[in-house]
Amino acid sequence: MNSPRHNWGNTPWAISFRSKHKALPSHADVVIIGGGFTGLTAAAMVKHLAPEKSVLLLEANEVGNGASGRTGGIVLAESAAGNLPGLGDVLNGYKKILRELNVKTDLELRGVWEIARGPRSMEGKRIHPVHRSPIEWNDSGLVRVVKKVPGGSVDPGKVVTGLARAAVKAGAAIFTRTKVLDVQPGPPLKLHVIHKGKKRTITAGQILQATNAAKLTREAIPGEPKLTFALATAPLSKKHIAELGLASRRPFYSVDLPYLWGRLLKNGRIVFGSGLVPGFDEALPIGNSEQPWSGLEKQSILRGAPLERLNNLEQRVRSLHPVLRKVRITHRWGGPILLTKDFAPIFRRHPKNKNMILLGGYSGHGVALSVYLGRWAAEALLDKRKLPKWNMH
Ligand SMILES: Cc1cc2nc3c(=O)[nH]c(=O)nc-3n(C[C@H](O)[C@H](O)[C@H](O)COP(=O)(O)OP(=O)(O)OC[C@H]3O[C@@H](n4cnc5c(N)ncnc54)[C@H](O)[C@@H]3O)c2cc1C
Repeated sequence: MNSPRHNWGNTPWAISFRSKHKALPSHADVVIIGGGFTGLTAAAMVKHLAPEKSVLLLEANEVGNGASGRTGGIVLAESAAGNLPGLGDVLNGYKKILRELNVKTDLELRGVWEIARGPRSMEGKRIHPVHRSPIEWNDSGLVRVVKKVPGGSVDPGKVVTGLARAAVKAGAAIFTRTKVLDVQPGPPLKLHVIHKGKKRTITAGQILQATNAAKLTREAIPGEPKLTFALATAPLSKKHIAELGLASRRPFYSVDLPYLWGRLLKNGRIVFGSGLVPGFDEALPIGNSEQPWSGLEKQSILRGAPLERLNNLEQRVRSLHPVLRKVRITHRWGGPILLTKDFAPIFRRHPKNKNMILLGGYSGHGVALSVYLGRWAAEALLDKRKLPKWNMH
């Protein structure tokens, strides 16, 4: 059987973390479900702030197998819904948390280009190209830089690896290949899990659900799970990178459609992604309302509509600029994102048990936010901080 990692293709970075635990405990003070940026940060931070608490992180596959290991790694400020009441400075907070946990990530905060073809953004705002735009590409019109916004990039493999190691070093137990099948809100909080092919029950003082696009229960993290796509080129020469207008190493994303985002990697490869394509829902139904995740997990980028999307992205990339016409595409992959109704992340307590917190749904804008809110969740689990009031409706 293909694992989701295989179905969703391969990325140009590596995650080097293997969990070493053997005996799964039957209880923990804090259980974290999901080994992406959110869950790993929360696990590391709970132990960092309260070393006496037992922390158990359960990951269905390997750490980073969801969005975090497959992301573009473009570090953005605020949230997909802009600034939110009480959010604070996400970029500065991100930098501090990585430093606090001693995670080396190749973080560069040189700013991010917003690019566009037309005079209006998707939201209908008037936009115009900057004087002497460094980028001049062809993609349904002339694509140019319209604005520089705060942000930058990281190596996603290094972030996942570094956070997982920081969590283990602080004393958290990470169990991979351990899938949570169900959570009973209790009290007491009970998790039914499958570990080494056997069903087990674990009780928890508190739970953080950080499963992102994978839902455990229908009411858990509300949003639309989707698969989105990216590819990476073979390394380009400095000359070609300069000709493309990317010598500044700034990542870019389009503010009009068709959506296009990308960034340069340290080794000269360029990653391009297309975001969600219009009509995606009809072309690629994801699960159903009872089991939304099951469909997403079974999607393969190697056939059908996802393969078409990737082929289309590759064609677009080749047409962007003469430098890219014959470039070798070395990696192609997809990854899950969870779009929420108003693009604000879901960060709240479980309606039936306040000892369970739900966090996720960054709507494709979660590289810095997941880590930033993962720390906040750790503080909330330890009763050191209140949750924000973003999901009160
Ligand atoms: C292709 C792509 C490009 C992106 N590019 C950017 C970008 O450039 N900038 C940006 O800001 N954001 C980007 N994003 C979004 C960003 O990557 C995510 O918001 C972020 O990684 C979410 O982290 P997370 O920990 O909440 O979720 P995830 O990384 O998805 O982690 C959830 C984890 O939970 C595990 N899990 C699920 N169900 C269970 C279960 N039942 N039991 C145990 N474990 C379970 C999964 O296996 C997974 O590892 C991108 C996303 C994708 C897919």
